[in-house]
Amino acid sequence: MQLTQQRQAIIDVLKEAGRPLTRDEILSFGRMKLPKLGSATVDRAIREMRDHFQIIGVEFPGQARRYELPAEHEHPHFVCRLCDKVFDIPIKTQLPEIKAPKGFLITGGEVIYSGTCPECLKR
Ligand SMILES: [Zn+2]
Repeated sequence: MQLTQQRQAIIDVLKEAGRPLTRDEILSFGRMKLPKLGSATVDRAIREMRDHFQIIGVEFPGQARRYELPAEHEHPHFVCRLCDKVFDIPIKTQLPEIKAPKGFLITGGEVIYSGTCPECLKR
């Protein structure tokens, strides 16, 4: 896949943010780098980059889907109850293995902590 300027901008934005971003956040941060970045372009780039596992889609209850760069290992996330931002917690975690109930196929899991982020604590 050709790495266009737009896709590179998305990777940079995710790298700099250091936390999973929504499509809208990617668009607004991306426009700080490429003022002409179009929303259809971002949608297409996100789709293609997901298909190629350059970015990973993550979902949190009650929130728009977020995207992050592939991590070396599983890590928990932290959701701020005040500003709804999601952060990576950079520690290695291992989900407990469970036996799937009859009729279920488990393909993934997620550890999510919640509380107040440093920025909101300062307010
Ligand atoms: Zn916060």
